[in-house]
Amino acid sequence: MADGRIRFLPSRLRFLCQNVFAFYCLFIGYRFYLFFVWATENGHYTPRPPSVEAFLPIGALLSLKQFILTHRYDPIHPAGLTIFIAVLVVSFLFRKGFCGWICPIGFASELLNTMGRHAAQLFGHGTPRHGLLRTPAWLEYPLLLLKYLLLGFFCYLILWKMDLAALEQFSRSPYSLTADGRMLLFFFHPSRLTLIVILCLLGLSLVFRNFWCRYLCPYGALLGLPAMVSPLQVARDKTTCIDCKKCEDICPSSLPITAKTLLRSPECIGCLECVSHCPRKDCLTLASPFAKKLPPLALPAGLLTVFLTIWLAAEVTGHWHSAIPDDTLRHYYQTIK
Ligand code: SF4
Ligand code: SF4
Repeated sequence: MADGRIRFLPSRLRFLCQNVFAFYCLFIGYRFYLFFVWATENGHYTPRPPSVEAFLPIGALLSLKQFILTHRYDPIHPAGLTIFIAVLVVSFLFRKGFCGWICPIGFASELLNTMGRHAAQLFGHGTPRHGLLRTPAWLEYPLLLLKYLLLGFFCYLILWKMDLAALEQFSRSPYSLTADGRMLLFFFHPSRLTLIVILCLLGLSLVFRNFWCRYLCPYGALLGLPAMVSPLQVARDKTTCIDCKKCEDICPSSLPITAKTLLRSPECIGCLECVSHCPRKDCLTLASPFAKKLPPLALPAGLLTVFLTIWLAAEVTGHWHSAIPDDTLRHYYQTIK
């Protein structure tokens, strides 16, 4: 048996990493709120944090198409495009590691599921690892399809329907310039329908494991495509496997790990929880075509190095800060308040 402290290291490191990025996002959100107050109500000036553009993935898809067609890097939301490219690159190299190690929405979804399981324990239902309720097997694939349908809808609108002129017109429009502010208002002044949808999603995430990520997130669906050809996979040695199913019980994506010897699924978020919780030494390992067995920490180390390097490269080469001065943005923000 593997030594417990080392065995659970990827799991603990992941929790730490998710916390760091979640707190960073909260900090960025707070700084953006201060900027918004300054821009709309004459508060104390706080510079707009470029990282807030990470929450505009549809805008980033538009920018990527423009970049491919014109070779011009989006001067208005460059940080959004940089983060989008970084996420696509790490998904190709390290599976959907962005979802498993960085994404704050994925982290919140896992926390909600943990809360649901603890609530189940309070009411005497034990602590089912898979969540309070389990999706019936016949419904699993139709539900998994939903996020790909949403992705297909956005790709149809942006990649197929919008030509270059339409893209450029949209990216310079007041709506695009203030998209982050509109998103803030959307959450600060939600309509009744928005509130109902958010409450439904929170409730479903409490009782079903990773409901949003597994079934509805089109961003996760997109990242699953490069992840399918990722050189890293979780491998299972069936000669040492004792079929205890601990890996499947802990897997946030509820994957049928014991039915495979190599996991290429676009649903695998590279979290390594299965590797951490497998009781048999070297039964579940991280593998690539170049090395049959890699240290599990190679995945987060590589993922964070590549992600942060792209971020840093964008800062140094001037592809991070918007070309639109905050004073100009302020003029547009005042039109949406
Ligand atoms: S946790 Fe390990 S030993 Fe148990 S079923 Fe999964 S792969 Fe096999
Ligand atoms: S198969 Fe393993 S690495 Fe992939 S999502 Fe499930 S637990 Fe995480």
